[in-house]
Amino acid sequence: MRLLYQFENGVEVYFTAKDDGDAKALVSEGIVEGELISRLGRQICLATARQFHSEIVNIVDCNSAGGADGELPDGDALVTRDADVGLGILVADCAPVALASREGVFAAVHAGWKGIYKGILPQTVRTMRSLGATEISAYVAPSIKSECYEFVGQELDKISEDLGSTVVGRTSWDTVSLDLLESIKQSLKIEGVSRIDASDDCTACGEGYFSYRARRSAERHLMVVVDRGGRR
Ligand SMILES: [Zn+2]
Repeated sequence: MRLLYQFENGVEVYFTAKDDGDAKALVSEGIVEGELISRLGRQICLATARQFHSEIVNIVDCNSAGGADGELPDGDALVTRDADVGLGILVADCAPVALASREGVFAAVHAGWKGIYKGILPQTVRTMRSLGATEISAYVAPSIKSECYEFVGQELDKISEDLGSTVVGRTSWDTVSLDLLESIKQSLKIEGVSRIDASDDCTACGEGYFSYRARRSAERHLMVVVDRGGRR
């Protein structure tokens, strides 16, 4: 697990890649939680969700974070203002999006084309605002890029109708593609989130990643968003 990004308010984004192994096992065996505790030097509980490419957002704290015998919430975004919770999202090609605000409200989102199509990002930003977030910044961790993401059909038409024609890209083999990162940027901009950083890495053609589209990987990466605290 490595530190990928730090927001100005102390919220950090961690990521497990291929050399860490399948993140589903790292989560279920408590390895991620253990590493967060040792990196931050205090108790952290890891919240995850039963993801299903929906637009459902869950507000979580340590009591609702699941744990060994707890039930996982259904949904594709996790929001909290609890500095004792790490928010974990599993991905392989879909974009993991981290969001943070000055007020200490932060979020982790599983954003594939279906979630974007259904409005997972606006739902997450609105939920953050309902908890007191004002100015929100975003970071997009490694995901499949436009040059590798062939995509056609009425879903693409609908996404480009909603978010603008810049979401339509070309693959490196010159067919129509979806620019997932551009659709995330446009979707967030509509909600007033304009400060968006992103990893340049493509999970399909980049070294060291699992890819569902390119290699039918069953393994997943994990993005964890956590508040290191003490800097606000
Ligand atoms: Zn690529």
